[in-house]
Order: sequence, then C-alpha cells, then structure tokens
Amino acid sequence: MRKFVFSEDRVNREVIATLTTLSNGFVSIRGDPEFAESRHGTFVSGVYSFTPVFYREIANLPRAHALYLELDGIPLAPESVKYSLDTKGGFLETDSVLASPSGRVSYRSQRFVHKVLKGLVGLKAQIRSLDASGRLCIKAPIELDTVNPSVPPEISVKLYRVLSAERGDFPTVDVETADGRYRLRVVSIVRLRGGCGAGFYATGRHIGQAACLDIHPGDSISLERFAVFGLKPEDVARQASETARGFESLFEEHRACWEREWEEIDLRVEGDEEFAAALAFNTFHLLQLYNDEGKVFMLPARGLHGHGYRGHVFWDADIYALPFYLFFKPEAARKMLEYRCRTLSAAVENARRSGYEGAQYPWESADDGFEATPREVPLDLAGEKRVRIRTGELEHHITADVAYAVDLYYRFTKDEEFLERCGLKILVLTARFWASRARWDPARARFVIRNVIGPDEYHVGVDNNFYTNVMAKHNLELAVHYSAKAYSDPKLRERLSELRVTQEEISRWAEISSKLEIPCRDDGLCEQFEGYFELKDFRIEPGVVGEENLPREVISSVHRYQVIKQADVVAALFLLRDKFPAEILEKNYEYYLQRTTHASSLSLPMYAALALYLGRTEEGYSMLKKAALADLVDVYGNTREGFHVGSAGGVWMAILFGLLKIQAGKSLYYERGASLGRVTISFNIRYRGAKVRVEVQGLPHA
Ligand code: BGC
Repeated sequence: MRKFVFSEDRVNREVIATLTTLSNGFVSIRGDPEFAESRHGTFVSGVYSFTPVFYREIANLPRAHALYLELDGIPLAPESVKYSLDTKGGFLETDSVLASPSGRVSYRSQRFVHKVLKGLVGLKAQIRSLDASGRLCIKAPIELDTVNPSVPPEISVKLYRVLSAERGDFPTVDVETADGRYRLRVVSIVRLRGGCGAGFYATGRHIGQAACLDIHPGDSISLERFAVFGLKPEDVARQASETARGFESLFEEHRACWEREWEEIDLRVEGDEEFAAALAFNTFHLLQLYNDEGKVFMLPARGLHGHGYRGHVFWDADIYALPFYLFFKPEAARKMLEYRCRTLSAAVENARRSGYEGAQYPWESADDGFEATPREVPLDLAGEKRVRIRTGELEHHITADVAYAVDLYYRFTKDEEFLERCGLKILVLTARFWASRARWDPARARFVIRNVIGPDEYHVGVDNNFYTNVMAKHNLELAVHYSAKAYSDPKLRERLSELRVTQEEISRWAEISSKLEIPCRDDGLCEQFEGYFELKDFRIEPGVVGEENLPREVISSVHRYQVIKQADVVAALFLLRDKFPAEILEKNYEYYLQRTTHASSLSLPMYAALALYLGRTEEGYSMLKKAALADLVDVYGNTREGFHVGSAGGVWMAILFGLLKIQAGKSLYYERGASLGRVTISFNIRYRGAKVRVEVQGLPHA
C-alpha cells in the first residue's frame, strides 16, 4: 500500500520493468518507459501460440503504449528516469529528463491497466520544455513487430500475424495468433489537450497517431493515450467508447477500486519496514494477476510479468500460490482449480501417451493442458550444443500436487458444487494415474515408484523419491476418502458411477497407498530417494542462497552429492505435517537444510514455513524475509524474466500455515499467540463467506 521508487542508475531497466509491471489479470504490460523502444509488447492472459522448443508459449502481442518523442527530427534520449509504482492505487508514474541537441524536456507520465475495464490501458503524459526549442513530434503507434525471444538467444519468433490494420475513427488492428487459435483486436486512441489534433500515420511496422508542434522553453503539452485490447470486437468497442470520459475519470475509478481492494484486506505490518514493504509489494502483484471476470485463472510461474518459463503453469500455482488466493480471494482459488478442470481431458491424454491410466497433469502446462516442457534446448545456432530436459517426462509429482490443492480448497471452502462438478473427478482420475504408475516389488513386498524427478531437480531418474511417494500416497488416500463420502451423497454417488469407480478399485487404491514405499529410517530420517544417503556428503551454511559458493567439483557433478536444489523431503513433510510426528519434522528439517542450495525460489518459503511451524522463529523469519525480497532485491538474478509467483505466494503459505497454523473447522482455527519476534502483521481473510481479522503478534517493545 505504498510507493516503490526505482531509478535506472541503481537498478537495471529490465529488472525495473518486471517490478513495475501493471496487470489486471487479463492485459499486462511491463514497466518499460513509453519513450523507449522495447522488445516487450503486451501479454493477454491465456493467449498462447505454437512455438518451436517450448510447444506453446504466451504471445508477445503488439505494444500500444509507446510515446516516441523527436525534437527537430532527432529522437529524445533519456538522461534520467525515475519510476514510482503506486501499489495503493495500482498505477505507475515516471519522471524523466529527455535530451536532444535542440535542448531538454521533462517528461512525466501516469499509467494504469484498468481494474474494471479489463481491456483498457490508460496513459497520461506531460511534456515540458526545459530549454528546448524546435519542432516536437510525438508518435503513438501500435507496434506490430513484437516477437517472442527464443533459444538460442539469436532466434526470435513472431507468434501472431496482422489480419488488418485500419485507420477507422482510431487506429485499429486485428491480429491472430500464428496457429490461428486466438484473435485479438487492438485500438489506440490519442487525445492532445489544449493543442493541435493528432493525425494518423503508418509505416511498415507501426500504425498510429502522431502530432507535431513548435515548442519553446517553458511550454507544456499534455496528452492522453489509451489502448484497448479484446478478444471480442464488441468488448473493444464498448471500452473504447468509455475513453471519451477522459483519463482523469477512468484513473479515479481505477484507483478507487484498488483502494477498496486494499481496504478489504487491510494488511498492516509493523516492526520491520523492509519486510513490510516486501510483503505489500508481493501482495500487490499477486492481486493484480487475478482477473475476476475470467472463467479460469491460469497463473504462470512468472506471472504476466515476463517471458520466463514462457507463460507456463507449474506446481508453483497449485501448491505455493493457491493458499494466498484461498484466504484472500477464494473465488480466485476456485478458478485456479477450474483451469485444472478445463485441462483434465488433456491430462487424461497425457497419461495415455505416457502409457498410464487416469489423468497425468503436465509438468509445464500452457493454455491447452498438454505437456509443454521443452525436451531439448539448443544452445547454439547450429544446434550442436543442446541441453536435454527430462522434467517433462519424469517430474510426476505435479499430478498429486493438483489433487492436494483440490482437497485443500474443499476443506476450507466446503464448495460442494465444485467437488461435484469437477473436484471428485480430478481426485479419482489422478488416483488412477498413481495406481497405474506404482509397481509391486515382490522382493520387498511394497509398491514402488521408479524413475522420477522430485522437486530437487539435481537428481534425475531416481527411485522412490520421498516427496513423490508421500504425495502420491496422499492422492490415493484422498480418492478413497472422497469416494467413501460420495457413497452417502446421491449427487456425488452419481459422479462415481459415471467414472465407473467400483469398490474393488477403491480397495486397490487403499492397498497401494498403505503399501507404498516411504523411505524413512528408524531414527526418523527420511531418505530423499533410494541411494541418496550413499552419495557424497557436502554441507552448506543454512540459509545461504544459490550455487555460486559451491566448489566447482560439487556443482559440476552435483548428482553425486547429497546437495539438493530445493525443499523436497521438507516440502512433503510440511504439506502433510499432520501425518508426521514433530521429531520427524525437526530431524529432517535440520538434515536437509544443511544440504540445500535454495537455487529455486520455491525453496526458502517452504523451509521458512516448516521452521515457523516448528517454532524456530528467528531462522524461519530470516528465510521468510529473504524469500519476500526475492524480486525487490533480485535474489535469484533473474527477476528481469518475470515475477516469482511461487515465492511470493509461498511467503503467504508460510505465514498462514507455518506460523498461524490455520485449520478448517466450523469456524476458522488459527494460533492466536503466533509471533514473529518484533514484527506485527494483521490482515483480513475470508472464510466461508465471513471476514476474519487475523493477527500475528509482535513482542512488546522494551
Ligand atoms: C524449480 C521448480 C519450479 C520451476 C518454476 C524450477 O527451477 O525447480 O520447482 O516449479 O522452477 O518456478
């Protein structure tokens, strides 16, 4: 609920552009300044196209918010740029000095992506001559040359084609994704205040409006630019007509909506200014990714903030981000699961293709729900160097993660309609997948799951990965539990018979889950996978992030070491904390923390969650804070590629479930004395239609 100020002399422009991305969950634009050329155009949630290497990826659609300035024919170049992201009102301001041989101008802008009119981007710019004299030309194009960066970096692909580009009342462009699956209309509207009108202009790659006028020191020009994006021409026309109300009225409405959003949550953090800022920042970005008008909520791992992971959805959404939405916007959590419902038939096909039964969710999922993980990434143009990626083939825990999320959502919401329409079906079909995936090993008289990648991706093709097996067991148990429930409910019972679930099948699930290998020793230490304890040991200072400090011999053959990338055993133990005694949680937390690089941003929030759950407040808080700062201080060095949704959501998961130990019951249970040292946090959450004020108490000041 505050302003975040960034300047290019301190932070790289690409990083700032991620941090200052504006979105309403439908349209999203990064914070690149309007006057600068950028390879980033516009993302529209759900608009993907076929692409080499990555199967399908989110399309980089035309950019329609630039304002290019020329003085006497020479582009004005920035001397300084200051960005202020106002999270309270959901807008971005820039303040710059632009220079050319004919003098300097100051440039100030305000920009929003409207919270209610989902296709609308609004921009107001004020240009004042400091000492510039000459002919100032302002161009406001729809740029039709935006492309998706690919691999190797020399390659880019254009994921849309232009169907028409017309002058109309205002420049209007219709584009279609390269695979013909989606059509989008873009309209651009420019209004100059108190000056001459803007004329139409077009070049090979731009179509837009332009205005030229003479300026002298002290002169000011004010201009409003709107862009409207939409999948249906009627939506675009309706929203374009709203722009006649002018920038101020639309801006006011947008800000008021954001202010109401914050009032609802009323997040207050005291005692650590840096953490308070980070939590507010992450909360803002999580909130703005949700489109309340959408039927499904497809949440890519890097948000709608950049090309990282190509707009693909991972378990980051179901496990790490869902708790935030569950408590702050339960309908968003449902729509996240609706995305899994919509892609369920693709998951059935994925299972069939890999030779299994039931439904297998893809490790990386795009708009259609088929496996979208690249199998091989070329590193050079000749294609001689390639990296083989096996997560798509082997990282199977995602299927159990989706089932876990369905149960979590149902337990907290008691949304019977969802359970009946889709939830039960997901639980049954995912259990069927595990029943076909697990194999009976007669030698040890246990079911085993061989050849997987667990959350720790340093070890590939392992047997009986603890996380995978524990979550698969849980998935099977859920299917047993919900089927039993279904027998006593006529509507659910009907669903079961449609799915042809028999008593024998339920017994089989129960048998497999009770005999599935869960590799824990008598002393309570669980082995991440078979053979892990025989690997070379190497200790890392707890909480140190990244691979940089590892000796070269360790990192170059990391699979030979007990070094792990992210929470794996610890993730399973935290997610299913009620099923394990505290001593097991403690023992494994200590063991694995010293062997984890936290190279994935998903790691720290999970360790923080378990630490806080175990009452290890100081170390838990230190990891929580580092996780919360992931993007603001670019902890992982890749914020330029997008916002870390899983990490931001994971911080909330750690607060809600680790620290507050929230549980569902007739009314909501949470630990009232939960403490984070000197830090006080309070906020409103939603629970079955009621608003509940929750507080983490800070220690009294001395
Ligand atoms: C992590 C995965 C995660 C993905 C997307 C990878 O580096 O290992 O667990 O889902 O990034 O955030």
